[in-house]
Amino acid sequence: MDIQTCIAKLGYVGVLNFATVDEDGAPQVRNISAIHYEGTDIYFLTARGKPFARQLLRDGRVQISGYTRFKETIRVSGKAEPVPEAEQRKWRDVLYAEQPYLENVYPGETKNIDTMFVIKDYTIEYFCLSTRPITREYFTVGNAVLKPKGYRITEDCIGCGTCQSVCPQSAIDEGAPFAIRQNNCLQCGNCFENCPAQAIERL
Ligand code: SF4
Ligand code: SF4
Repeated sequence: MDIQTCIAKLGYVGVLNFATVDEDGAPQVRNISAIHYEGTDIYFLTARGKPFARQLLRDGRVQISGYTRFKETIRVSGKAEPVPEAEQRKWRDVLYAEQPYLENVYPGETKNIDTMFVIKDYTIEYFCLSTRPITREYFTVGNAVLKPKGYRITEDCIGCGTCQSVCPQSAIDEGAPFAIRQNNCLQCGNCFENCPAQAIERL
């Protein structure tokens, strides 16, 4: 897997879930199809008056999720920025040309309420459940910083092998210490809960 293939797959999925948090810290998710991909830049549109636009302007953090028919989840985590005023019209026109249904939603001059955002710096998590073992990969675009997730085996490992026996994906290799193959790990925590030496830490 690679960044461009992930982006292409998101394009094929078409309608993606966009999650933000509101002013009370509550999760808010909505389906968005008004998306244009320019290289690795992700442009999207909403109306200025919507809570979505206000949440983006106040905080900017957004997580996008798409799920393919091949049991692949592609998750984009980043910060959305308003497109500069001088470029708003240009990118809106690109989007309307790609997706003519938008003219039905905001006909004529009513589309002036639209506002364009772009995400340039983000991480991608690719997670596929149709392989055995499962596949998980991370990518970084622009200046985004990846925050590690999952579990890691520390030097406190005594080599008992219990974690191997409870791992549903056989994602743990013997060694000193034993090691989790992060690309095959479900992050289910079964090894963490069963290690007799508390040698596994949550990242
Ligand atoms: S269960 Fe804990 S101590 Fe045993 S091999 Fe796994 S990590 Fe090491
Ligand atoms: S978190 Fe789950 S899948 Fe990952 S190594 Fe531990 S038991 Fe295996």
